[in-house]
Amino acid sequence: MLADLVAAVLRDFPPGIAAGWRFSRVVPDREPDADGAVWVCVSSDSDLDGDVRIWFPADELEPRAHALLRLADRLQDELGESAAGWGQPLPPCDLHPQHPLQAQLVGGAAVWCCPVTHEARRPVAAG
Ligand SMILES: [Zn+2]
Repeated sequence: MLADLVAAVLRDFPPGIAAGWRFSRVVPDREPDADGAVWVCVSSDSDLDGDVRIWFPADELEPRAHALLRLADRLQDELGESAAGWGQPLPPCDLHPQHPLQAQLVGGAAVWCCPVTHEARRPVAAG
């Protein structure tokens, strides 16, 4: 399920930048109080970009919108700092291409919104 969500969120980013990135594996968190939490590993083909580990508490694994929001935030950070995506607004706002969209919960769904006008633009992982 998380593999599908990672792939779906990656499709929200420009293909040329997200192409080398893919879900790699889920690793259980071994801390005594982890309570079902996991690390999701996402890896890049590029030697310049390492693997990314995204931590999910157990209670975020169930509501799909929460998992999408966390993935959108973290993948946005990582792709924006990757060799291919450095310095670019990712994903770009369709109203103002100079800044990136921001993932937010809107009515219980994860949605990419313009950070300036707060308009909802498109659902996270719609494609
Ligand atoms: Zn905007």
